[in-house]
Amino acid sequence: MNTVQLKKGHEKPYLKGQLNLDGEDLSDDTFLGDGEIVRVEDTYGRLIGIAMLSFEQKTKGWILTNGEETIDDAFIESRILSAIDRREPLYNEPDTTAFRLFNEIGDGIGGLAIDNYDGHLLVTFYSRGIHKIRDLIIRTLMVRLKPASITEQTRFSERGRMNIANRRVTGNVEFPITVKEAGLSYSIHLEDGPMTRLFLDQRETRKALVRNEADAKTFLNLFAYSGTFSIAAAEGGMATTSVDLAKRTNELITDNFNANNLSTDGHTIHIMETFEYLNYAARNNKRFDQILIDPPSFSRYKKKVFKVERDYPKLIEQALMVLKPKGRLVLSQNLETFTLNQFKQQIGRTIEKAGRSYSLTDVKGLPKDFPTSKGYKRGKYLKVVTVDLND
Ligand code: SAH
Repeated sequence: MNTVQLKKGHEKPYLKGQLNLDGEDLSDDTFLGDGEIVRVEDTYGRLIGIAMLSFEQKTKGWILTNGEETIDDAFIESRILSAIDRREPLYNEPDTTAFRLFNEIGDGIGGLAIDNYDGHLLVTFYSRGIHKIRDLIIRTLMVRLKPASITEQTRFSERGRMNIANRRVTGNVEFPITVKEAGLSYSIHLEDGPMTRLFLDQRETRKALVRNEADAKTFLNLFAYSGTFSIAAAEGGMATTSVDLAKRTNELITDNFNANNLSTDGHTIHIMETFEYLNYAARNNKRFDQILIDPPSFSRYKKKVFKVERDYPKLIEQALMVLKPKGRLVLSQNLETFTLNQFKQQIGRTIEKAGRSYSLTDVKGLPKDFPTSKGYKRGKYLKVVTVDLND
């Protein structure tokens, strides 16, 4: 096993428990290979931990144990099996068939995610290194879960460009299939690009929409994609308007309404750019009781770049123009490098600048099947903040 040394003075955060290996902290990493198991030491030769290298955008690798433990097949297998055991309560929920089984370093192995869609598994590998133990991971899942199918998704850079590909590993199934979440049905597809049509980490946001505690009648869903928030809001009794610039949105959302035997009467879909829609809605006096904003981190439209950390204030400003008095905003942001505090401040400043006042009603993060580790705080990427305008 190779040993890699931390630069002098760079050991502090690691002694406090940091698990992600930052390339900047390593004295010489030129001889290291992706996927390699290495001993991490400080400059005095003290053991920091044993790491599995995983060349991802966010890290060079992950410290998997701080002791002298051997990282072998049995170690990996046992981390996967314990994670599955911890999902027992979700397996026992009769109305929910889709959830995360393994959440990267939060479940003890960085660079690996496993999702369960009613017995059909999606295994995501975030580096070529972690993909080297793919056979072991697949075998462990086959033996323990006897899944109906397994699809693998690789997400790593090839010559500096991120390449995302899905491949069927085993099982006979024709996607899309329907899964359940809190009694509602969602159409999902595991072999149709990077997204599955259902973001499992937003389960609690959907539940809150169904409860509709604010008793909203009209709901605007921006960046709607497959419309899962619209389905939840419709179930909560709201008339929904879904906006997304992708043409496929129409079909994806309609499929989800059909899967729930919900009539699409009173529900509208606009294939439009968000800011263009908000301008159009403001001009045409459309007003909503509740507006949900869940943008991607980055997107491009007609040569214009949307960057979530920079452009969120503009989204809020424009949404306020079409929000009814005392309306509610549900604001979601999932950039790893942006903290909940930063997001709250950004929201506060923007609403105050618009001359309005608000109450913070609710803050949600990741659900229980997306556990995070104290050693990697940025893993808590999801922030969903609900604010009610005071007038
Ligand atoms: N809120 C969704 C996920 C959004 S995925 C959910 O929870 O299911 C991001 C979506 O934003 C994609 O469907 C993409 O087509 C859309 N999108 C990206 N930029 C956009 C823009 N400027 N205006 C409208 N839609 C946009």
